[in-house]
Amino acid sequence: MIITKQKELNKILEQLKGKSKVFVVGCAACATKCATGGEEQVKILAEELARNQKKVTGTIVLDTPCDMRIVKKELLNNEKAGQAESLVLLSCGAGVQSIAQVCPEMGLVPALDTLFLGSIERLGNFNQYCSLCGDCIIDETGGLCPVTRCAKALVNGPCGGAVNGKCEVNSDQDCVWILIYEKLQKNTATIKKYRKIKSNTSISKPQRIKTR
Ligand code: SF4
Ligand code: SF4
Repeated sequence: MIITKQKELNKILEQLKGKSKVFVVGCAACATKCATGGEEQVKILAEELARNQKKVTGTIVLDTPCDMRIVKKELLNNEKAGQAESLVLLSCGAGVQSIAQVCPEMGLVPALDTLFLGSIERLGNFNQYCSLCGDCIIDETGGLCPVTRCAKALVNGPCGGAVNGKCEVNSDQDCVWILIYEKLQKNTATIKKYRKIKSNTSISKPQRIKTR
């Protein structure tokens, strides 16, 4: 799931300077699960925009704004969206760009920041376990990703600095290499194999966020 957080209202209003008519778009998938762009957040943002002298011509929560077919079907010819000078988008960057692609004439204001691909621990509590490196190796590491979950992105074993099972860089996090070793204790053949170091340009640091 794509984890997002809402931008500050004043940043959204800044983007809307000079625009009086707006239409608010939400996402029924990831942004709903994150509580950043579902029905409730769309309603709240529409009310806040109205309090700030914007005329809200309408709102919609698209099933998946990142799917251009849905955007074409549900948004492209939406009369109320057409009346607005700007669409305010409560979706991730993929959703915003799908809408930009399908509706090139419409002004767009992204209202969310896109953070990472996350796993839900419980609602409002998200962990980054994969950084989409494009060359998955977790079949060799017990289903645990050292590329993302090791603070140094080490793919050939631990750095040796862990203290009581916790990472030396971030003591809030378990050392993923210890978890990998414990999981594969009886079958260490795959972790003994040498793996090519990955370029760290596409790897983001492991993230955990709590929004509730
Ligand atoms: S190795 Fe890690 S970062 Fe790469 S695709 Fe697999 S889980 Fe994602
Ligand atoms: S302590 Fe473990 S998780 Fe932390 S940097 Fe070293 S090997 Fe990676």
